[in-house]
Amino acid sequence: MGRGRRAPLVGRIVPPEPTIVDLHTHTTRSDGLLEPAALVTNAAAAGIRTLAITDHDTLAGYRDVVAPGGPPLPAGLTLLAGVEINAVGGGFDVPDGELHLVGLGVDPDDEAFEAALAEQRGGRRRRFERMSARLRAAGLGVDAQLAGLDSAHDDALGRPTLARALVAAGFAVSVQDAFARFVGRGGPGYVPREGLGPLEAIRAIRGAGGIPVLAHFSAAPSRRVLLQELIDAGLGGLEVHHRSFDAETVSAVGAVARELGLLASGGTDYHGDDEPYAEAIAETWIPPGIAAGILAALEVGAVA
Ligand SMILES: [Zn+2]
Ligand SMILES: [Zn+2]
Repeated sequence: MGRGRRAPLVGRIVPPEPTIVDLHTHTTRSDGLLEPAALVTNAAAAGIRTLAITDHDTLAGYRDVVAPGGPPLPAGLTLLAGVEINAVGGGFDVPDGELHLVGLGVDPDDEAFEAALAEQRGGRRRRFERMSARLRAAGLGVDAQLAGLDSAHDDALGRPTLARALVAAGFAVSVQDAFARFVGRGGPGYVPREGLGPLEAIRAIRGAGGIPVLAHFSAAPSRRVLLQELIDAGLGGLEVHHRSFDAETVSAVGAVARELGLLASGGTDYHGDDEPYAEAIAETWIPPGIAAGILAALEVGAVA
């Protein structure tokens, strides 16, 4: 989820000072629109000091920007390897049938984790092909729009990719419109996800040394039984700050995190559909203490 979702104007949070932390972002290595290096450059230019790249099912973006021989990271920036796993809901009754687990500070060299992510990507590709076929059968073919996809960057083909193609083909007026009418749950192009369930995703992230964080789950205050089950599996954090949350939601989700002993996390969930990075971060408040808490838990140490 994400895709530039914004909090409603009423209740939208105005950062009391510039935000310097962003622990939820996407790049072209999944369904974002900025190259990993461009995301890092834009984030640093906007004042971010602690950044996590959390592409869906892949660490490729992180690997790209830390690859030997590449340009050095911007001075003063701490970059975390991250991932977002859209876990199928399993037995849980959850919105859109999914729970999204962000893994922060995972070990990019962990082979078992990489194998699990490769499996996720395979499922994602199969789902993408089945959804394309369903759209075609419904008279909403977007093969021409998808023909230009860079196959080297198809690590995490997702519904946003199909939604953008539907917009390009003139079937929808916006990505949100395409989700609402065609590729959202129950739409003519919709196919359920396959892959890891939430408990498996949490264990996989823990196995790779990362902190599993439940992302943009605004229903948290009324789902304590579910949260406790996730905590028992190893859930370590809750995304208290998200671009789509209004002040009331931040406060309620934050209270649940404190009560259950979960680390607070936060991010823009930036994909790049609607606005430049600087604009997205200017509308998102993530207190600096969020990074300190996550880094301390990862024993990365203080930001230089
Ligand atoms: Zn998500
Ligand atoms: Zn996301």
